[in-house]
Amino acid sequence: LQERLSGILDKLTGRGALSEADVDTAMREVRRALLEADVALDVVRGFIDKVKERAVGAEVVKSVTPGQMVVKIVHDAMVEILGSEGSALNLRASPPVPILMVGLQGSGKTTTTAKIAKRLQEREKRKVLMASLDTRRPAAQEQLAILGTQTGVETLPIIKGQTPIEIAKRAMSEARRGGFDVVMLDTAGRLHIDEELLAEAAAVRDIAKPNETLLVADALTGQDAVNLAKSFDEKIGITGIVLTRIDGDGRGGAALSMRGVTGKPIKLMGTGEKLDGLEDFHPQRIAGRILGMGDVVSLVEKAAQSIDAEKAKRIAERMKKGAFDLEDLADQLNQLQKLGGMSGMMGLLPGMGKIKKQLDGVDLDNSVLKRQMAIIKSMTVFEKRNPKVMNASRKKRVAAGSGTKVEEINRLLKMHIQMADMMKKMGGNRGLMSRMFGGK
Ligand code: GDP
Ligand code: MG
Repeated sequence: LQERLSGILDKLTGRGALSEADVDTAMREVRRALLEADVALDVVRGFIDKVKERAVGAEVVKSVTPGQMVVKIVHDAMVEILGSEGSALNLRASPPVPILMVGLQGSGKTTTTAKIAKRLQEREKRKVLMASLDTRRPAAQEQLAILGTQTGVETLPIIKGQTPIEIAKRAMSEARRGGFDVVMLDTAGRLHIDEELLAEAAAVRDIAKPNETLLVADALTGQDAVNLAKSFDEKIGITGIVLTRIDGDGRGGAALSMRGVTGKPIKLMGTGEKLDGLEDFHPQRIAGRILGMGDVVSLVEKAAQSIDAEKAKRIAERMKKGAFDLEDLADQLNQLQKLGGMSGMMGLLPGMGKIKKQLDGVDLDNSVLKRQMAIIKSMTVFEKRNPKVMNASRKKRVAAGSGTKVEEINRLLKMHIQMADMMKKMGGNRGLMSRMFGGK
């Protein structure tokens, strides 16, 4: 993809912002790559739309090609979609905490059950009980018992002839009696999704009331991934996804499809047949694999960093001369946003604590940052360079244009004056300057 994209775009355009035509051309290639990686069509469409919106007009940083720039934007958008906050297993409940494992036959449920149990027991010192509810496949319950012996995790004694529901009940009461922290319930799968399978899993869910219901799915799942994830989520209600066979040579498009369709986090990845082949989900790794690209991302990141440094130098120079207008402020707000919001940064910077206090009552989070940037964007260049001209009617116009209030504009202008003041005082201090504008 990388080569294809770069090749095409290099012919198309020079420097500057990405044009809509460039992006369209690139998106055709991205679309093809995603379909090749078996990402579901609907998900591809949604994804492309999102990326397009972001890419058109994006500035191509120096020393990378437009093609590389697009790859970076595509990659970042994908990581954003794939990634999710707090994707660790949720064990917050009074023990025993049930975890229900669902999925198709052969997806890796039983293996993953043992892998997770082993990890919880070894790393988190939880006492885990595993129970196989698979009464369909011959020797399925024995398979889990063997894995239990291998991992040192206890398994529920097998009583032949019990239904999955009876086993689930027994597992829960045994876990309560035995003082277990976690109960892992490994269910039966079928080769295809069917109503009976889903109904059975739903019945078990009603008995066990699991904290986590994990859909185990093969990373090699193709276009079926969407249906699979949808039906399991609709009928049973999953809380997360475990992607197995990441060690295989699939491109992993299923991850994007399933995440896109359910919105549920991918929590873990199976990376081999062995019982320690379990890793936290790495969105970067999967995104890289889906796009089939290597170092482009880090290349562009480095280039972008040097741009920031250049910008920083320019600002520092301007400030030494006592010039610090709203364009400079916008540049800074931009960087602040990249660095995780204002309140975080402000606390770190000497002298900023005071400003923060003066702005008391103002919630300096990202939404405020966004509004402030919107305000500056709605100003004319003349206004940005000469903030003093901002009179009542100009403020009213800018407020309307940016969807904000005049008070917010006043607050921003006040903040600008305070900052400009402080900048002047700090003008000579190189170290401080680079800390503020160097991006780190
Ligand atoms: P179940 O039918 O869903 O319970 O699937 P199993 O746990 O029995 O796994 C089916 C096969 O896939 C077994 O041979 C496992 O060793 C294998 N398997 C499971 N997870 C992984 C994985 O992450 N990578 C590889 N290479 N094989 C796996
Ligand atoms: Mg099994």
